[in-house]
Amino acid sequence: MRRAVDVAKQTPATDVPVGAVLFDANGRELASATNRREADLDPTAHAEVLAIREAVKKHGDGWRLTGCTLAVTLEPCAMCAGAILGARVGRVIFGAWEPKTGACGSHIDVLRAPGELHRIEVRGGVLEEECAELLNDFFRQHR
Ligand SMILES: [Zn+2]
Repeated sequence: MRRAVDVAKQTPATDVPVGAVLFDANGRELASATNRREADLDPTAHAEVLAIREAVKKHGDGWRLTGCTLAVTLEPCAMCAGAILGARVGRVIFGAWEPKTGACGSHIDVLRAPGELHRIEVRGGVLEEECAELLNDFFRQHR
């Protein structure tokens, strides 16, 4: 998670700072990415999606990230949670909770929806204050 915080600090200045890092089962880093929605003018350019796209190129199991862990500084949204499930990521840890759009337990829970076949381990609130501070700093400057 510490690594995800460092990655988040590299977010383009116009974008909400979010960092995501994917590790394989041995703890080897596969990919990292920041939110780039504004920079890329792409509504799907969230840190989690970009990191997943990078990681599958290295992981060597087609599009699957079975056994991998995603660390992200903000609770993933519904789109990202869907991508996480689709990629068969084994574990998600995230920092700050996102009560408005969070899809991993706060607003809704896509990752543990009833009937979901893929079982995933989820842990939120890791380094929560540090992750939230990055966001608070950004919004203080921009609003
Ligand atoms: Zn997202």
